[in-house]
Amino acid sequence: MTAAFTQLQANLDAIAQQGLYRSRRVMASPQGIHLQIDGRHIVNFCSNDYLGLANHPDVVSAFKTAADHYGVGSGSAHLICGHSVAHHALEEELAAFTGRDRALLFSTGYMANIGVISALLSRGDAVFEDRLNHASLLDGGLLSGAKFKRYAHADVENLNVHLKKASGNKLIVTDGVFSMDGDFAPLQVLTAAAKANEAWLMVDDAHGLGIIGEHGGGLLEYFKLDQADVPVLMGTLGKGFGTFGAFVAGSETLIETLIQKARTYIYTTALPAAVAEATRASLKIVITESWRRDKLKNLAKRFRLGAAQLGLELISPICADNLNPAGWVSGSVTQQPEDLAAANITSAIQPIIIGDSQRVIEISNALLSAGFLVSAIRPPTVPQGSARLRVTFSALHEEQQVDQLLDALDKAMAKHEAQS
Ligand SMILES: *Cc1c(COP(=O)(O)O)cnc(C)c1O
Repeated sequence: MTAAFTQLQANLDAIAQQGLYRSRRVMASPQGIHLQIDGRHIVNFCSNDYLGLANHPDVVSAFKTAADHYGVGSGSAHLICGHSVAHHALEEELAAFTGRDRALLFSTGYMANIGVISALLSRGDAVFEDRLNHASLLDGGLLSGAKFKRYAHADVENLNVHLKKASGNKLIVTDGVFSMDGDFAPLQVLTAAAKANEAWLMVDDAHGLGIIGEHGGGLLEYFKLDQADVPVLMGTLGKGFGTFGAFVAGSETLIETLIQKARTYIYTTALPAAVAEATRASLKIVITESWRRDKLKNLAKRFRLGAAQLGLELISPICADNLNPAGWVSGSVTQQPEDLAAANITSAIQPIIIGDSQRVIEISNALLSAGFLVSAIRPPTVPQGSARLRVTFSALHEEQQVDQLLDALDKAMAKHEAQS
């Protein structure tokens, strides 16, 4: 026992030595763009609350009213006695919002992804995943028992090579907007590949729903893809919607299959009904207040233009394989300001690639001293050598704050260049 713990401590020391040690920051202030950390005022550039709804008065008030009516706990799983009128109404509204026959709530996105992939596939089948997919999608694929193939990021040619060799049921799985890169999956080409190979396509649009598309319908709205094109759509509620939980949307048959077979749906306590009511309030805002999407897009564009001028390494929002409807195709990594203005699309996630894990921590700490919270993302969350600052924007930020962040970034990068 003691020996085992000695080994664990040695492992921890090794993690720290590589600049990969993770620790938590304790927040006392409400979620939003202004945070209090150690008594200091900090501007938050690392939240996934992209539309600024986590602490919206209508959302908070819907939560309180519902807690008064339903209580806090849901009492059991959905299939026992935990499925309330509030959950049911939210599912119907999410189905309508995504243009799918039905939607099914899950308690978290992590569980939704594991549940769906395992319900659809088993031994003898095959799952194909983008190399940069979210951890929950990769874990879902591994747990399903199906043959597991990763393809190069957004590389449909590489995917096709794997697809040709596969047998059994085939499921292609991809992030919509990639969580650590902020770029878009080549969904039109993926849809064609899926159809040509009689494979299902599953899109996790945790970072696109609410943000991308004129009505906030995410990447599927942007690329005009319906339920026949993308049979399995997964979305989370803890990001753009500002609350908690997740859902899967698709055909009647898909949803009934999940209710019968998805273990992470069947064997877990339902979300509190008050969370469902709060999410119904936030969905209303997502649909009606398109100014939040417009503002977010303008802030991200302003940041990209400024960062390009400073010579920082950005990631193109559109992968090379990804023809956008205007016919514009990007190159690979660094983006020219003119191209960006022409493309007129971008997500709320704008990483600055640094490379080295120690250096990204130093820069992130320097930004914190300057009053900006920007997260340093290191391996294994991202591939070796691609440590980055993951800058995210909220509809509640102001242009001036973006300019101030750029200024602080310029200073922090210059300082740590000089020292290294
Ligand atoms: C956050 C995230 C999840 C997990 O969702 P939770 O509700 O936080 O468990 C799944 N997929 C992607 C792409 C995500 O970014």
